[in-house]
Amino acid sequence: MQALQLSREQRLSIITLPKPQIVNPTDVQIRVAFCAVCGTDLHIIKKHVIPFEKFEYESRILGHEFTGIVTAIGETVRSVCIGDRVAIDPNTSCGRCKFCLRGRPNHCEKYGKMLNRSNGGLAEYVVISEPQVYKLSKDGGLGLAEGVICEPMSCIVRGWDIIKSRASSDSRVLINGAGIIGLLWTSMLYMKGFRNITVSEPSEFRREITRKLGLNIKVRSPTDSNQWTDRYDLMVDCSGSSKAIEAGLERMEYGGAVMMFAVYAKDSQLQLDLSYIQKRELTVMGSIIDPFTYKRSVTLVEDMYKSNMLNFDKLGVKVYSFEDFEAAFKDLDERTISKAVFKIQ
Ligand SMILES: [Zn+2]
Ligand SMILES: [Zn+2]
Repeated sequence: MQALQLSREQRLSIITLPKPQIVNPTDVQIRVAFCAVCGTDLHIIKKHVIPFEKFEYESRILGHEFTGIVTAIGETVRSVCIGDRVAIDPNTSCGRCKFCLRGRPNHCEKYGKMLNRSNGGLAEYVVISEPQVYKLSKDGGLGLAEGVICEPMSCIVRGWDIIKSRASSDSRVLINGAGIIGLLWTSMLYMKGFRNITVSEPSEFRREITRKLGLNIKVRSPTDSNQWTDRYDLMVDCSGSSKAIEAGLERMEYGGAVMMFAVYAKDSQLQLDLSYIQKRELTVMGSIIDPFTYKRSVTLVEDMYKSNMLNFDKLGVKVYSFEDFEAAFKDLDERTISKAVFKIQ
């Protein structure tokens, strides 16, 4: 089979590998249909971040946002059958460390080792364990292309779980960054009844994508922030930019809450007046990965699809053939798209 490999020297190339086979009774073999490139993949390629402490830079097949068709199953697999359309949760945990036992598998001590990132979805076939495989409903009509959104959305559902007690539908929300994650947060909040959403984004191209969503979102450039008059009850940072966060913090309402949701480069720092946080009783929260949220994400993504909120053209998502990987990464680099999705087969 063909796969897109990131070498130890950080070079991408299509290589030929043997097709992975069922070994364990819980294994599921999947013919990959679509696989998206995530911002985290770009950071890994550029070595901006080491997402997990035990993550080592070896040759690897990236791609953790993918869908496909089940082509073989191990002898104990019951939840999916050959021919099922499925989306994949790439994350695993050991189930035994102190974090797993506290119900926090996303902080698992063995996370970096167990994470299926050395054999990701940028390949024609993947073998993965049954608990990581989620069946897409037949009648939902969710396309396998749009199904790649289940993984990033499962992380957003986690962020929502953390922040929701601080939010109500009349909250004034500031979303920093109109990349795909900012757009998905915006769409999800809109679906949940939020109508006072402002998106702050430096790129005019991305601001235009946000306007075209037609959700009546206020769109601002962060450099105009001095003229902003609004205050915000909730800020979700999807930008990773210290400047954007600092500007947003100045606009927070008393009792406001901040969700740090981007991938932050190692050693990113903020300059803030700590008394400001204290006097305004601000709460700053973080969120990582998707513990116990994938199933709810599949339902949410199917609902969003039915409500025409996953229109790839509107969201600035572009589908590429596998062979066009150089063009896809160039477009991502130049920020002329919000996300690249590969049609694998
Ligand atoms: Zn991702
Ligand atoms: Zn664990």
